[in-house]
Amino acid sequence: MTKEKEQLSHHAQKRTFRLLPLRARCAEDLYPDPHNAETLARLDSVSIQECGEPLVDLRVACPDIVFASDELYLLRAGAAQRLTLAQERLNAATPGCRIRVGDAFRSSEKQARFYRIACMAVRVLRPYWSRSLIREAAARFVASPFANTPAPHLTGGAVDVRIVNAERNPIWMGPRHVGFQRFDCPELDAGARSNRDLLRIAMESGGFSNYPEEWWHWSYGDSGWALRTGAECAIYGAASQGAHQTNLP
Ligand SMILES: [Zn+2]
Repeated sequence: MTKEKEQLSHHAQKRTFRLLPLRARCAEDLYPDPHNAETLARLDSVSIQECGEPLVDLRVACPDIVFASDELYLLRAGAAQRLTLAQERLNAATPGCRIRVGDAFRSSEKQARFYRIACMAVRVLRPYWSRSLIREAAARFVASPFANTPAPHLTGGAVDVRIVNAERNPIWMGPRHVGFQRFDCPELDAGARSNRDLLRIAMESGGFSNYPEEWWHWSYGDSGWALRTGAECAIYGAASQGAHQTNLP
């Protein structure tokens, strides 16, 4: 394993440990409200009418967005345009604030690596859980790359975002502990609530929809988006990095 991959794995592992649903005893415990849960069965019921949009380099497509690292960030062309709209809305509400992208399109290899780490983390914390429960718990935070429905970040329609201020410092979104990652976490303080609402208003104005388990995860065009918004179908299936454009069409 290269040093870069080791660092990536370490980062993903730390993040995953923070997010695990520690109190679950069975699959039902993972989804206290089954009507809101994005179970694989519900996601698989969504049809995908692939629209064929290419992946584009977000640094080119969204020059006002900032990024968590120097790596290449790709998103479908339509989703990238919507991210620009979200940034414009944010700027209108709080001049100087920017959307910062932490993750966008993932290759299937990267998704599989994250998913393996998530499964390992659950197994370490809950060694007595069944294999299927371990996989289900892990998939709640890192979508399985082996599911029929492509993982959101594989489609190029999902993006992990937060807001940074004019000095490029992240604004307060609440504690990073288990339980606070849900967007509508009831224990959230007023400041974090208000800042998450700022993010919601910006992202929804671009047409993105939030995965309720993670305040930072938003998508457009994928199966989760279709399920949450009642769209007739998803328009993004799994994307291919090989075809990405460096310039907008
Ligand atoms: Zn995400």
